[in-house]
Amino acid sequence: MSDGGLIACLECGRRLSQLASHISRVHGMTGQEYRQRHGLPAGYSLASAAYRATQAGITARRIADGSLRPDPLAASEAARSAGRGQRTAEDLARQAEIARAIPRAQLPPGAKRADGRDADRAREAQRRRRAALRERRP
Ligand SMILES: [Zn+2]
Repeated sequence: MSDGGLIACLECGRRLSQLASHISRVHGMTGQEYRQRHGLPAGYSLASAAYRATQAGITARRIADGSLRPDPLAASEAARSAGRGQRTAEDLARQAEIARAIPRAQLPPGAKRADGRDADRAREAQRRRRAALRERRP
């Protein structure tokens, strides 16, 4: 729930520029616990768009003047351990719903494909290829 410079806390409704310290200090939760409790994706930002833009500007200036030297390996490790980029149960459920809604044209049994090949044989060959690939994976 972010608009302009403030983001609303889903626990108490207070509107702040960023929630991380508020959530920890007032509600005794980590950002990860807060996101889980409210069904938010792992990458959901706890800062308003304006706050993030300000911080990005400060960081960009520090990199430009040499006072900050970014370490991409450490940054990606920190993001990984913070759970960013990992799919939550909500993310997986949403993806499954989207996948189910995609229409998949499947020829009925006994039909011929446009190139004249037998649809059942092509389907069987595809299943064998996929099974072989699954067995090869560790
Ligand atoms: Zn609060």
